[in-house]
Amino acid sequence: MTIKVHPDIESLSPYVPGKPIDELQRELGLSKIVKLASNENPLGPSPKALAVLAESSATLHRYPDGGAFKLRTALADRWKVALDQVLLGNGSDEIIGMLARAFLAPGDEAVLADNTFVIYQMEVTAAHGKAVIVPLQDGRHNLAAMAKAVTPRTKLLFVCNPNNPTGTMVNATDVETLMAKVPDHVIVVFDEAYVDYACDPRFPDTLGYVKRKRNAIVLRTFSKIYGLAGLRIGYGLTTTEIANYLNRVRPPFNANSLAQRAALAALGDEEHVAKSRALNHAEMAFVREGLAAHGFQPYPSEANFLCFDVNRDGRAVFEALLREGVIVRHIHGSWIRVTIGLPEENRQFLQALQAVLGRQ
Ligand SMILES: *Cc1c(COP(=O)(O)O)cnc(C)c1O
Repeated sequence: MTIKVHPDIESLSPYVPGKPIDELQRELGLSKIVKLASNENPLGPSPKALAVLAESSATLHRYPDGGAFKLRTALADRWKVALDQVLLGNGSDEIIGMLARAFLAPGDEAVLADNTFVIYQMEVTAAHGKAVIVPLQDGRHNLAAMAKAVTPRTKLLFVCNPNNPTGTMVNATDVETLMAKVPDHVIVVFDEAYVDYACDPRFPDTLGYVKRKRNAIVLRTFSKIYGLAGLRIGYGLTTTEIANYLNRVRPPFNANSLAQRAALAALGDEEHVAKSRALNHAEMAFVREGLAAHGFQPYPSEANFLCFDVNRDGRAVFEALLREGVIVRHIHGSWIRVTIGLPEENRQFLQALQAVLGRQ
C-alpha cells in the first residue's frame, strides 16, 4: 500500500547537517579533520558545564524537571522577565516548530528572508502555512520589504539577527521602523542565536519589545557561544500570553536533565563566554584577511562565521576542501560559509583553500 502524504510534506527535503568528523575520517583515511561547518564553539563546552555533567548522570533514570524551574528562574533573573515568560526548547529549533504549530492554521502566512536559517521554511510548510519569501538586500534582511509583505493572513515574521548564513546584522533603527509598521496580529520572531558574538553597539534591544508587551519572541540558544550544541537546549523570551500558547504544544520533558544542568552552569561561566568572543573576534579578522588575499570579500559579520562568493562552482570548492580534510558549508551556487575556528584550524582552512584554488 502506498502512503498518502500531504503535498506540503511531500515538498520538503530532509535537512542536510554538516558532515560529522568521524564519517569523513573513515571515508578519507585522514587523521586530522577540521570542521568549520556548523558554527560550533571551537573552544568546546564551558568547563563549568562539563563539571556538573560528570556528577549529573547518577539520576538519569528520573524524568527531567518538566518545568525546568532552576534554569528558567536563572534566565528570568538574567533577563529581568517573569518566570512564565521563559520557555525552553530541545534546541531553539524546537521553539520554531512550536511557533508554527501553535500559530499557523493551514494557509496562514509567515514572512521570512530568502537566504536565512532553513528551519523557518521547513516548520512553516510542515504546519501547512505559507512561507512568504522576501529577498535579502546586500546580504541583509530587507525589513521595509518584509513589513510590506505582511497581509491579514500573516501570523509570523522571522528576523534572524545576526543572519545565518550571511552573518549580517539589522540595527536598532531598522528594527524600530519594522516594529512601527507591523500590526499586532503578527508575532515577530527575533532569532538571536549569535547575539553573543555581535560587537556592533547598534544591535537592537529586541527584548525591550517583549517587555513593552509587543507580540514578539526572542530566541536564544546554548548551542553556539556556550558550546553545548550536542545537548540540544535553547530558549525563548516572550509575553506571558504567547508563552502560554506555546506551552500547549510543547512536548513534556523537551529539555533533558543533563541539558538543563549544563546550561545553568554555562550561563554562569562568563569567563568562557568572554574568551570565546575574544577568540572569534581576533580570528575572524585573520580569516577575513586570508580570504581577501584571494580576492574574496565576505559579508560584514557579527557572528562566528563568514559567508563569501568564490566566483566559481561552490559545491566543487566545498568538495575539494573536504578532500583536504576541511569541512565548510556550501550555501548555494558560488557561496560558501566558514565557521571561525581555533587559530590552527583557521590556518589549515586557508592553506587548504589555497591548494584547492591553485588547482581550479
Ligand atoms: C544554530 C542556530 C540556531 C540554534 O539551534 P539550536 O536548535 O538551539 O541548536 C537557531 N537559529 C539559528 C539562526 C542558528 O544558526
